[in-house]
Order: sequence, then C-alpha cells, then structure tokens
Amino acid sequence: MAPKFTKCMLLCCSAKVSKEEDSMGSESYEEAIAALSKLLSEKADLGSVAAAKIKQVTAELEAAAADPTKFNPVKRIETGFLHFKKEKYEKNPDLYSALAKGQSPKFLVFACSDSRVCPSHILDFQPGEAFMVRNIANMVPSYDKKKHTGVGAAIEYAVLHLKVENIVVIGHSCCGGIKGLMSIPDDGTTATDFIENWVSICAPAKTKVKSECTELSFLEQCNNCEKEAVNVSLGNLLTYPFVREAVVKKTVALKGAHYDFVNGKFDLWNLDFQISPSLAAV
Ligand SMILES: [Zn+2]
Repeated sequence: MAPKFTKCMLLCCSAKVSKEEDSMGSESYEEAIAALSKLLSEKADLGSVAAAKIKQVTAELEAAAADPTKFNPVKRIETGFLHFKKEKYEKNPDLYSALAKGQSPKFLVFACSDSRVCPSHILDFQPGEAFMVRNIANMVPSYDKKKHTGVGAAIEYAVLHLKVENIVVIGHSCCGGIKGLMSIPDDGTTATDFIENWVSICAPAKTKVKSECTELSFLEQCNNCEKEAVNVSLGNLLTYPFVREAVVKKTVALKGAHYDFVNGKFDLWNLDFQISPSLAAV
C-alpha cells in the first residue's frame, strides 16, 4: 500500500511542476534561462560539480530513507495524510461529502505564516469553516489593484462570493515579521528582497509604538506592535469598497485577535470603526 501511495504522490508533484512551468511568464522564464547560461559559462566546471553533488545528495537520501532515526519528509507526509484519512476523513463522511459540493465558511482569517500559529489547530477550525490567508506577520495591505493582488483576490472572493460573515486578523507572540518591522532603520534602508518591504504595510503601527512606548524594552515594544499591526490591518480592510459596504450593512464584522503561545492566551476584540475593549480573553 505504501509504495503505491508514494508513487501516486510523486506523480502528482511532477504534474504540478509542469503546470507551474507552463504558467510562468515567458519573459521572466527566458531571463532566468539567460542568467543560468551566464552562470554556467562563467563556471565551466559547474556541470561536473553539480553532477557530483546530485550523486552525493541521492546517496544521502537513500541512506536517510534506510535509517529510521533520520527525518524522512516523504514518510512524514505519507504518515500524516494516512492519519488524517483514517481519523477524520473516513469518520466524517457527511462532512466530506457536503464539502465535495462546495464551501460556505463563516470566517475569513488572516494569520501569520509562522509554523506555530496555525488557526486550524489553535481555534479548532474544521475543514470548510475558515477561508484563510497566511503571510508574514498576518498583514492586510490597503486596497491597490496593482500591488499585493493575491491578498486582494482572497478578500474579494471571501466577501463577495463566499459571503463570509467575519474577518479575523490574528497576530501572535514572538512574531519574527513584527520584529523585522520594528528593526527597520529610521533611514529606511533595507537588507532583504521582499520582507522589509512587505512588513512596512504596518509601518504606522511601528511609528505609534515607538512614540508612545518609549519606556518599554524592545521586546515589549514588539509585543505591543503585534497588536497595533492587527489594528492597522483592520483599518486597511476598510479601504476595500466591498468590505466597507459589507461592514456598513452589518453583513461582515471585523475582529482583531492576538495569540500568545508563550502564556497560552488568546485575546479577541471588535472593530466598530473605533477600537472597543477586549471582547474575550482566554
Ligand atoms: Zn509571525
């Protein structure tokens, strides 16, 4: 059973790669090939080095697969899916046959990409309950048809097509993205290709914390900024005309949240055009 499963999964992976290659813009693809050719001509011996490296990696993978103490990613994924299928999928046929027909989630959730804060785990969301966007520091950029369109498309789909009733932005403790935002030098110089530019979406939160929390340590300031950045994102949600309209009609409610995994706490608050006190603290 296991080898059949593995083969099937690998076939699926290769099919996906082909599809992604097809969808790449031809210009950027050609540029990438040109850059690779340049690199190869500059380092004529790269081919033999690469071949030797592939041989070495293959040997290491085979050794790792044979060694039960070494982490095997294929085995981990296979075991995980089989566990889900046995414990969840096959035990809830009604749920999964309903989900096969469509989805009607009540929530659009923004959460950080951080591996410790998966909303399905911490809030026990079941399949079909929450439409999710996960990115660095759970940020919502303001409405712009030319920038960050992946986020805009998700909000548009969730609000206009799925008709979610709640949008929840969940920040969290020890957020590396927020620490990155708080660490951007005042002169605005950046050291990364994407990260600092992305987290600057919530620059107003940094400005507020830096001016209002001067007595706090850097880490305490970061903790405050984790929550202020959620509020900036809630404000940014209101720049989307269809979100604004839904909020005014009360068909959508905006909520901010902060998950503290150091102390096992979860705070939730409302945005009713002005921030109201905490609704719940668990
Ligand atoms: Zn984070």
